[in-house]
Amino acid sequence: MKSEKRILSGMRSTGPKLHIGNYEGALRNWVKLQSDYKVFAMVADWHALTTQFNDPSAIARNSREVAKDFVAAGIDPEKSPVFIQSHIKEHAELHLLLSMTTPLGWLERVPTFKEKQQDIGGAERSPYGLLGYPVLQSADILMYKPYGVPVGKDQAPHLEISREIGRRFNNLYGEVFPEFVNIIGDEAVLPGIDMRKMSKTYDNCIYINESPDETAKKIKNAFTTPTKIKKSDPGIPEGCAVCQYLRVYSPNWKELWDEDRQGLRGCSQNKSECIEAVNEFLRPFRERRAELDDDTIEQILTKGAAEARAVAQQTMQQVREAMGIW
Ligand code: ADP
Repeated sequence: MKSEKRILSGMRSTGPKLHIGNYEGALRNWVKLQSDYKVFAMVADWHALTTQFNDPSAIARNSREVAKDFVAAGIDPEKSPVFIQSHIKEHAELHLLLSMTTPLGWLERVPTFKEKQQDIGGAERSPYGLLGYPVLQSADILMYKPYGVPVGKDQAPHLEISREIGRRFNNLYGEVFPEFVNIIGDEAVLPGIDMRKMSKTYDNCIYINESPDETAKKIKNAFTTPTKIKKSDPGIPEGCAVCQYLRVYSPNWKELWDEDRQGLRGCSQNKSECIEAVNEFLRPFRERRAELDDDTIEQILTKGAAEARAVAQQTMQQVREAMGIW
């Protein structure tokens, strides 16, 4: 089997809660990959600083909560190391060394860089770390010499840079970093209850760790076909948040969509079936989540860090030898 091959996957701890968009777009795939690979599941707390350097006081707490959501969603800490990026100081050393070999032009050309810089307040206010984000991400990845990295389609340019950074190191100092592949899942972007992309910045999310009542309330208020007032008005399920969730969480969504289109079912019926389906899907996650107290997650993170560190120390030994810096 491929069980010795590693996968590196990470998520920034920019908030305390993961939503079902994070699950559909990332975690679902990580959980699946566990049957074939050793999945290193990293909570990227240093990366959260690129946008939260003004007030980092919540990051440590958020990282623990995100780790709990990983486990609740099905990352098995017995098989898959769950760890916090900043606990493995080797990432900082590799980041520094790679920052010496990475041409500035590569970083300035990253499509999202200029846009993010503007969001933060332009070149005078946005941190140097934002420019270096892909270098730190490369260090995170290359450290574990993974077979592959699961990636959303929007992240592909970042990963291409990481491959280039690895290749450049190998060309300069000798073969240390094997090439990794992109593992592209079949995920679609999940809309929020307002039909924009589900994102915590829009406050339109259904969270793994919220009560079934909170979920029900949100779905009751979710955006549906605006021209469907009565049951007999035809719906447009493609543009209706409730129908989108039914597509993911209800096995007979095709019939429901047909009936919605033909005006054979109303929005309130859709909503109650959707509430049922989403809460049923999240039930095991929430049960596991409720059992994870602070001590348990701390133990999981300590064990995960020990496993990650063992690999990281080996890689850094090779890096220092290759560069002759010791
Ligand atoms: P947010 O937009 O809530 O801040 P992040 O940007 O931290 O979420 O995303 C973390 C991970 O979840 C990324 O892999 C991203 O591709 C995925 N993700 C986030 N929102 C969605 C969504 N609405 N649909 C699918 N995947 C998503």
